Amino acid sequence: MYNKDVVITGSGPAGVLLGYLLAKSGVDVLVIEKSASLKRDFRGETIAPGSVYLLKQLGLLDKISSDEYLKVQQMIMYDKDDKLLSIDFEKFEHEQKYGIDIPQPTILNVILKEAGEFENFMYLNNTSCIELLESSSGEVTGIKCKRGEVSFEVRSRLVVGADGRFSTIRKLSRLEYEKKEYSRDLVWFKVPKPKGWKEANIIKVDRNDHLIILPTYPDLLRIGTYIENDGISKTHSTGLEAFKQKVISLEPKLKETINENIKDWKQTTLLKIFSTYVPNWSRDGLILIGDAAHTLSPVLGQGVNVAMQDAVELAPYIIEEIQSQKAKNSPLRKVAFNEFEKARKKSVAFVSKFQEEQEQSLAAKTDKECEERKIKMKSLDSHPLKYNMMSKVQYGSILEN
Ligand SMILES: Cc1cc2nc3c(=O)[nH]c(=O)nc-3n(C[C@H](O)[C@H](O)[C@H](O)COP(=O)(O)OP(=O)(O)OC[C@H]3O[C@@H](n4cnc5c(N)ncnc54)[C@H](O)[C@@H]3O)c2cc1C
Repeated sequence: MYNKDVVITGSGPAGVLLGYLLAKSGVDVLVIEKSASLKRDFRGETIAPGSVYLLKQLGLLDKISSDEYLKVQQMIMYDKDDKLLSIDFEKFEHEQKYGIDIPQPTILNVILKEAGEFENFMYLNNTSCIELLESSSGEVTGIKCKRGEVSFEVRSRLVVGADGRFSTIRKLSRLEYEKKEYSRDLVWFKVPKPKGWKEANIIKVDRNDHLIILPTYPDLLRIGTYIENDGISKTHSTGLEAFKQKVISLEPKLKETINENIKDWKQTTLLKIFSTYVPNWSRDGLILIGDAAHTLSPVLGQGVNVAMQDAVELAPYIIEEIQSQKAKNSPLRKVAFNEFEKARKKSVAFVSKFQEEQEQSLAAKTDKECEERKIKMKSLDSHPLKYNMMSKVQYGSILEN
């Protein structure tokens, strides 16, 4: 059995960053992770400028060589070849003028290494949370874990559920949540970047079909295309050739690289698109952050951004409670996080609403809907407040601090 101030379940961007920040301030913290390694592909590789800025401020980006990531400086949306919207990150007013594309393991391992410099930080991989420990009055007092065949308890003053979109902690906590399915899912794959390819994140739409093309570290393109919700078996049965032709018809310049490189469904990965809304993120002794508190749609790749902002915003509240010595050893009260929850929910709700509007417009099917989308996107493109609106998504809560 372990006794810790805080136990964090999940070592994604939210969990590792919070663990690092708490350890740095002297909080006794354990992060557990169910996987044996942090190897993960197609997961949160684009980090928006807001989180790049946070990582720089924390001195964490300096620990990574600039050869280990790509800069993301432009986003362009086309309807076939007609340019609808273009965002040039140089034009944001904030001093951080670019996002980055980086394999998630690179960033997670650097943060874990830095956290490991503190004696009060502990990390256990291969370890799953399987149960919450609760007092007779209903406060959460820790977790029960399993590592291989061994079960053990971790007693803590706070359990943080940072265990992602299928969060076990969220289920065990009995905090209510609503899951919203979208009309489409997304299939990702990677191919070598053709010579002379434009270094911009590109979205191509053609009616309700669309393609996301992202320059990806080191010299690849990460390509996402939509299929109907729960349509992966149908897509597979229609055949890989038909799938490739659909992608090529959306962007004919990809013909050669796709035909040469995509040979097997194993090279693709499915992203089930859903969002979750959790009205209350905390109970006495427990709080949810990141995807566990708010799974978002992939539109504009904001999952890592909001997860990291959660961690940075939550850390001071936990540190203050632990250091104040108030009610020493008892679970941290939900009330201590009211202000945090209120501010973060507002910021996440803005992103989520923006994504829903974009998702609806991307799913346009009829001639009339497609024409309306064109008009809407072009008027956003020429709107004098375009960069103000987009910066609220790309920078989030750092604009308020
Ligand atoms: C295919 C795909 C592509 C994506 N692309 C982007 C992108 O380009 N940009 C972007 O911003 N976002 C992207 N996202 C979303 C992004 O990955 C997430 O929003 C982000 O990683 C959330 O961070 P998190 O720390 O909350 O959760 P996660 O990163 O999901 O981390 C949760 C961790 O908890 C662990 N865990 C789960 N259950 C338990 C348990 N019971 N016990 C212990 N550990 C547990 C998991 O193994 C995992 O390591 C993508 C997601 C997917 C699936």
